[in-house]
Amino acid sequence: ERIISGEAGEQEVSFEQSLRPQTLKQYIGQDKVKENLQVFIEAARMRQETLDHVLLYGPPGLGKTTLAAIIANEMGVNLRTTSGPAIERPGDLAAILTALEPGDVLFIDEIHRLPRSIEEVLYPAMEDFCLDIVIGKGPTARSVRLDLPPFTLVGATTRAGSLSAPLRDRFGVLSRLEYYKEEHLREIVLRTAELLDTEIDPFAAVEIARRSRGTPRIANRLLKRVRDFAQVRGNGSIEAQLADEALELMQVDRLGLDHIDHKLLKGIIEKFRGGPVGLETIAATIGEESQTIEDVYEPYLLQIGFLQRTPRGRLVTHRVYEHFQLEVPAE
Ligand code: ADP
Repeated sequence: ERIISGEAGEQEVSFEQSLRPQTLKQYIGQDKVKENLQVFIEAARMRQETLDHVLLYGPPGLGKTTLAAIIANEMGVNLRTTSGPAIERPGDLAAILTALEPGDVLFIDEIHRLPRSIEEVLYPAMEDFCLDIVIGKGPTARSVRLDLPPFTLVGATTRAGSLSAPLRDRFGVLSRLEYYKEEHLREIVLRTAELLDTEIDPFAAVEIARRSRGTPRIANRLLKRVRDFAQVRGNGSIEAQLADEALELMQVDRLGLDHIDHKLLKGIIEKFRGGPVGLETIAATIGEESQTIEDVYEPYLLQIGFLQRTPRGRLVTHRVYEHFQLEVPAE
């Protein structure tokens, strides 16, 4: 388990639940997304209509689930939660949809993993709030139309590109979440420390923010670990020096990179003179699946300008040499 993974660990669920902001106002950063949602929510409330279906996309840990809950809260309706992989048959989805109350928010996490046959059940549900059910088999089979209460579907996905076009087109609002700026992560760390009733030096908060890979989930996780460290090695209060030591021990460097990032970057430098080198070749060299590299390792390295994608493969940038204090090779 990487401490800097964007995915939630199994024991993390209740910790995270207790930290979730409840309103748009408490939700830090993502200003554009918030502003848009604020307007749409207010308009829907004024017209006493349900909110349009919302698709949230972006890397794990950036606050998609949190936003879905906030939308329900701001609309004053219930939140029902499920996920793409949890819905195996059309009947599973029908059961969820028919149990909704008018106006409810249905949150489907990892919506890109819904099987196609189930997606097709969603189309009329999203468009006309109805279900087409086939009763019976063979020549006597007939289709019955069932009305549903109006609802808002909030879908979340890490890859908008892997959503089918007909599904994507049925969302009225598409919001892309971005990696957070350091100042916003710092605010999140300070907020979480307060909720945990822990004193923290503002510089320690910056230090944690900087190593959090633009991701609130990672910021909160690092804070929790540093807090343990402060309790055992210090007096419970998180001083800057202590935070630095704790983070050093966790082997998360100043930019939030760990040994796997190092292996990937140094591998390209040492074996391929910095690239360009094909994804498959990298995968074989460091013993990882290319899909994992593309989905999990690369996005943040691309974001901070450490890796570049070129038609001939991946290329490490000068910044990587500087980060590792290596000499940039001659052209
Ligand atoms: P996702 O669904 O995108 O994987 P989550 O909504 O589960 O991410 O968020 C992960 C954690 O980060 C939650 O505990 C949440 O409290 C925190 N978090 C996410 N976004 C924010 C934010 N904008 N402000 C404060 N905390 C946030």
